[in-house]
Amino acid sequence: MGGISVELSNFAEEILDEILEILWTKLEEGGQESVPRTDIVVGQGPVDEEAVAILADKGFLSITDDLVQLTDTGFEEARRTIRRHRLSERLFYDIFDVAAEEMEEVACRFEHIMIKPGLEEKICALLGHPRLCPHGRPIPVGDCCHRAETQIDQKVVPMSDLRQDEAGVIAYVSTGDSDKLKKLMAMGILPGEPVTLQRRYPSFVFTVGRSRFAVDQGMAEAIYVRRSDPVSS
Ligand SMILES: [Zn+2]
Ligand SMILES: [Zn+2]
Repeated sequence: MGGISVELSNFAEEILDEILEILWTKLEEGGQESVPRTDIVVGQGPVDEEAVAILADKGFLSITDDLVQLTDTGFEEARRTIRRHRLSERLFYDIFDVAAEEMEEVACRFEHIMIKPGLEEKICALLGHPRLCPHGRPIPVGDCCHRAETQIDQKVVPMSDLRQDEAGVIAYVSTGDSDKLKKLMAMGILPGEPVTLQRRYPSFVFTVGRSRFAVDQGMAEAIYVRRSDPVSS
C-alpha cells in the first residue's frame, strides 16, 4: 500500500517523542537526570539504538557511557512534547470520551498533528488552559496560558459578571465537568465567537452569532468572555 512510508515515518516520530517523554517523566518523578539506556523502554522492548542516536544527533540527548541525559535544547523539546501529549489526553478524555485505556494511544498519535501552527494554542484555549492531564500530571504552561492569565485581570470575566446588553467575545470555557463542556461546545459556544448577554434573570439569556441561549448560573460562570468595552467600576 502507498501509505506505508508515511506510517513508518509517523512511527519513527512517535518513538522519538516517546523517548523524550520518558526522560521528562523520570525527571519529573524523581529528579533523575541521567537514565540508563536499558531503562528507556518503548512499547514492547528496550529502545532501539537508532532512535537514541537520532536524538543525540539532533542535540537533544547527551550520552555518557550507558547513561542518557536531556541537553538544554532537549529539555525544551521534551517540555513541548509533553505539553502536546497531555493536552491531547485532556482533549480525548474530556471532549471525546475516549476510555482511559485507549487514551494513551490516540494521544500519542494526535500530539503530532498538534504541531500544526496555532492548533496547540486553540486546543489549550478550548479546554480552558488546563493545568493537569487526566492522570493528574502537570501540563507545562504555554504562552496562551500566560496571556489568558493577564487578560483575566484586565477584561476576561465569567459571563455571569457581564451587565445586561453587554457584548464581548468568548475567550474560553472553563469547567472541570466534561459533560458541561461538551454541552456548551455542541451549542456552538466556542472561543472567538461574539456574544451578547441579553438578560440576567431568571436565567442568563445570551446570543452567540444568530443563536439565542438560556443557561443557569453555573453554566454562565463557566463561559469566560473578553469584554469589548471594559468598565472600570
Ligand atoms: Zn497524562
Ligand atoms: Zn494555554
